[in-house]
Amino acid sequence: MAVDVSRKKIPIAPPGPTCIEVAVPVPAQKSFTYSVPEPLTLQARIGKRVLVPFGRRRLTGYILGLGAEPGRYTIKAILDILDDTPLFPEEMVPFFRWMADYYLYPIGLVIRCALPGGIHQKEIRTIEITPAGEAALSGEGRLSPVQKEILRAINPVCSLKDLRKNLGKSVPMAAIRTLESAGWAQERREMAKERTRPLTERMAHIRSENLPAEGLSKIKRNIIDHLDAQGPLSIRSLKAEFPTAPNHIRDLEKRGYVKIVQERIFRDPFGTAVAPDSPLPPTPDQEAALKTLIPAAENGFMTFLMTGVTGSGKTEVYMQLAHAVIRKGKKVLVLVPEIALISQMAGRFRARFRDRVAVLHSGLSGGERLDQWTRILQGSADIGIGARSALFAPFTDPGLIIVDEEHDPSYKQESDLLYHARDMAVVRAKLAGCMVLLGSATPSVESYANAARGRYIEIALPRRIESRPLPEITVLDLKKNKGQIGPHRLITPRLQQAMKETLDRGQQALLFLNRRGYATFPVCASCGQSIICGNCDITLTYHQQEKIYRCHYCGSGRPLNTPCTICGSSSVKLLGFGTEKVEEAVGKLFPEARTARMDRDTTRRKGALLGMLKELQERKIDVLVGTQMVAKGHDFPGITLVGIICADLSLSFPDFRAGERTFQTLAQVAGRAGRGEFPGQVILQTWLPDHFSIITAKQQDFRAFYHREIVSRGELGYPPFSRLAQIKVKSADRNRAQQTAQGLGDLLRGLQKQEKFSMVPIVVLGPVEASIPRISGDYRWHLLLKSPESRALRGLIEDARTQTPKLFNTPKVKVVIDVDPVFMY
Ligand code: ADP
Ligand code: ZN
Ligand code: ZN
Repeated sequence: MAVDVSRKKIPIAPPGPTCIEVAVPVPAQKSFTYSVPEPLTLQARIGKRVLVPFGRRRLTGYILGLGAEPGRYTIKAILDILDDTPLFPEEMVPFFRWMADYYLYPIGLVIRCALPGGIHQKEIRTIEITPAGEAALSGEGRLSPVQKEILRAINPVCSLKDLRKNLGKSVPMAAIRTLESAGWAQERREMAKERTRPLTERMAHIRSENLPAEGLSKIKRNIIDHLDAQGPLSIRSLKAEFPTAPNHIRDLEKRGYVKIVQERIFRDPFGTAVAPDSPLPPTPDQEAALKTLIPAAENGFMTFLMTGVTGSGKTEVYMQLAHAVIRKGKKVLVLVPEIALISQMAGRFRARFRDRVAVLHSGLSGGERLDQWTRILQGSADIGIGARSALFAPFTDPGLIIVDEEHDPSYKQESDLLYHARDMAVVRAKLAGCMVLLGSATPSVESYANAARGRYIEIALPRRIESRPLPEITVLDLKKNKGQIGPHRLITPRLQQAMKETLDRGQQALLFLNRRGYATFPVCASCGQSIICGNCDITLTYHQQEKIYRCHYCGSGRPLNTPCTICGSSSVKLLGFGTEKVEEAVGKLFPEARTARMDRDTTRRKGALLGMLKELQERKIDVLVGTQMVAKGHDFPGITLVGIICADLSLSFPDFRAGERTFQTLAQVAGRAGRGEFPGQVILQTWLPDHFSIITAKQQDFRAFYHREIVSRGELGYPPFSRLAQIKVKSADRNRAQQTAQGLGDLLRGLQKQEKFSMVPIVVLGPVEASIPRISGDYRWHLLLKSPESRALRGLIEDARTQTPKLFNTPKVKVVIDVDPVFMY
């Protein structure tokens, strides 16, 4: 049965048209007011989609409020209400408004980003030839050759998209408008069919009041008994048990023993069955954590930071806390940084909470996602687990939001709405008045600073489960490895020895290198010119398996034998190394070992990553080579050796967080060793053994790292001592990019002199050319704004945009505002 989530406040619609507030997914900061024609007023509910006229188009909008003020303008009427029940609960509207305001992003687009993909209606534009057009084509009119060509391509009807494809070039809209005004062609706009529909199935229920005593065949009797024992079943599943069930059921229905109902069913996104488990007796550390957390979960909004070393049993704390929250009738949201980690987390939660778990992530099909979304909306799931986008899970009354591996930069979305899911989880918890629990073995500098200042409460899990030791880390100075040749340049003899011992014991080894491909710096063998991308200012990487040079920024490839652009030679020296070269080195040193590589190249195919994780679990892999993908929270009990091929690659990034990233990645990847019954060891190879990111990673001591890092953040005035906003300007036209950035800089500096911005210091830096000046053919310029207060920054940008909207909408230039930027290259 569908539950109407907005039932709390069913507004009594006054007679006559009401006005509603609608968010339309267009680049407009504000929402719009529409009237609702009489027959639709009773159906209008917050959270439903409406079809509205917008300029020349018809668009899908979302109802944000009922009974809006008409204002001074003539308002248009909505055309239709598209949903029977709301897609999101009214309780989420303040959250959407908050995000739109904070990220300076249109509210309609915020909501579009929040809703599961696949439900958005699209308008299809088609062009049709008219009888006059047909006549003109057959020679009776005066058509220009171009018009003739277009009309032929249209004849008799064609979508605008296909028209462009068929003509093999862009068709100027003006040419089509001319055809229209001459009466030769006509444009039509239709709504495309929704791609994702709810699934329904015919379900058989027994009508217990009429259960027959006798007079039924044996098979009918069996079907009834089966239904009695199992509860309502679909005809399809009955048929699997009793092949002739459909006929019998029809007869049983006729005789009033069974009722057939068309019901909504949910596609099951969980491929595998999970054996049930029960809560583990908590360790003293877990016990202490739960003693604080469980009562606090009843006290409304509060942020906790659980700093538990790798393998300290954070997940068990999450589950026992979740259990307590659910018992109080509230819901739980669990965020993990990556899809690959959802299956692990969901597996554990499902073992404990069975079918009360819903998952949300982009790896599901559109239909599966809609189903999971609806289960949450209807209250048939107590726990929602997902990556970044699960932040928007439509719970009406969350009692707990968990953000696992809170330090992970994957929580930042890098397209469209540039939000940070961890930060927004805290905001959502605040608006919902519930607890938020951030967990990490290597907390972000920002979160730990909040704990140090008393804004968050730290809960520490200082020991591994069963007092398993943290792995011992040996640092090897690569400078002392000079002169080695072949595979020993990557795998030092010392690491090779450790691998041999590990494999001889029948255990698994993990080799980590944060760079994919074979050679990351191919150069011309005769003139030394590096092989660069045609669209980006970046060196291409040689991919051996694919036999191509590939750009890691725009994805374009260059065939092997392309001659050097400078000297024409086609012999190349393959300098630099990535995971492919490491895999090859393992093959040379350990030809009998079963080796696999886990990076973006080997996991692109759906299911490939899960397959590899499974093989690792089943000990079908001896040596796993991988990028930061393997560093994240996986629990691989068989791995006892971690080799870090080159620890300092990420230190050279032009980013004030480079040291933090390096520390976190190294400590995390080290934490993959020795999680099972055997102790682990880590061999860390580096060119910079004295760098404090490396030293503190060796000690696995995030507090030591923090105390050192926080000093330099303070000296440079970076977060957490300031808030940042970056304005990213890009254009295929170099001058336009630079001039727009310059104009924006001048505008912001001018506005900044105003009285109202004098209270809080704001620094406007730049514009400067981005550290990668060109990506995918776009020239890139950046401005950076810094202030102790985020509100001041956003206020300044908002003022600039209101005053000079043109600068933000310069033709052929893209201006993106990134509040709290993470990736600043
Ligand atoms: P973390 O997330 O802190 O890295 P996990 O939650 O993955 O650690 O726990 C590490 C291992 O310890 C897991 O295999 C888990 O099943 C086990 N574990 C957790 N809590 C307990 C407990 N109380 N008793 C026994 N084993 C536990
Ligand atoms: Zn050359
Ligand atoms: Zn490129």
